Amino acid sequence: MIPSTDKPRESRLDPAALADLVAKGKEASLAGKTADYIPALSRARSEAVGVSVCLADGSIIEAGDSRSPFTLQSVSKALALPYVLDTIGEDRVFARVGKEPTGDPFNSIIRLEASAFKKPFNPMINAGAIAISSLMPGRTGKEKAEGLYGFASRVLGLEAGKTAAMDKEVFASEAATANRNRFIAWFLKDLGIMEGEVEEGLDAYFRQCAMCVTAVDLSRLGSCLALDGLEPRSGRELMSRRAARVTKALMLSCGLYDGSGEFCVDAGIPAKSGVGGGIVAAARGRLGIGTYGPSLDLRGNSIAGSIVICALSEALDLFEL
Ligand code: GLN
Repeated sequence: MIPSTDKPRESRLDPAALADLVAKGKEASLAGKTADYIPALSRARSEAVGVSVCLADGSIIEAGDSRSPFTLQSVSKALALPYVLDTIGEDRVFARVGKEPTGDPFNSIIRLEASAFKKPFNPMINAGAIAISSLMPGRTGKEKAEGLYGFASRVLGLEAGKTAAMDKEVFASEAATANRNRFIAWFLKDLGIMEGEVEEGLDAYFRQCAMCVTAVDLSRLGSCLALDGLEPRSGRELMSRRAARVTKALMLSCGLYDGSGEFCVDAGIPAKSGVGGGIVAAARGRLGIGTYGPSLDLRGNSIAGSIVICALSEALDLFEL
């Protein structure tokens, strides 16, 4: 017998239910550790866990360290992509970056040379994201990042007139140690993929990765993606429907690097992680989720965030596939 479809179960969500998930996430976090290849990230409190859910009407339900700031890192790839899609157009973006998952770690360089496909496989890995940053309007890294920060302040739902802050220490720490990302960028230049000066594209990339956010901010971004680009509550268009859909499709297939397949099987919704400990997830037409938990698994994904999002997907029947 085909089971009857329940009504959406958002009514089951309350801060106490989220607090239980936070406790589970905290316990599991003991098995991981904070990122340390960017020295400033290793100072995060590894036991911190926060979750925020933003419903389509804009209301927020949150628990734990949901207002603790951390840096976006690779979650910024889910912001940079719609920004660039809407700014320079889909054709120009995908002339330089593919749409295929790799199954490799986020900073892998192996396919750049070994594959016959002479461009980064997708915008959710470092190679693709660095190429995307180089495509942002503006000549210098600072100018490029300014446009993205402006876009971010709207989709993260910051108060009018407020712009997200950049964590200068994390920015400097990454810029000083990013040998592998520099290698990737120069190799992309050789392939004719980087636009403009290599160091300016890299500078823009480091700036976007160092953007300070909270789990609450990420849940608003998730909700905007879930609503195909509309601002929760007001319904104002913050990104085009096409940009939101393209971004979600690539989040689903590539958003958790070489853990994307497993996460998709368990959570069934598009998501994007970062080594700062954040994950954003979007459940179509229903809600956005933002999580924070800087203790990472071996692939660089937040342990607590993955657990919390999978549990929410199960409890609220968010699975989209
Ligand atoms: N800034 C980081 C880097 O480029 C982001 C990586 C990540 O979050 N996976 O290495």
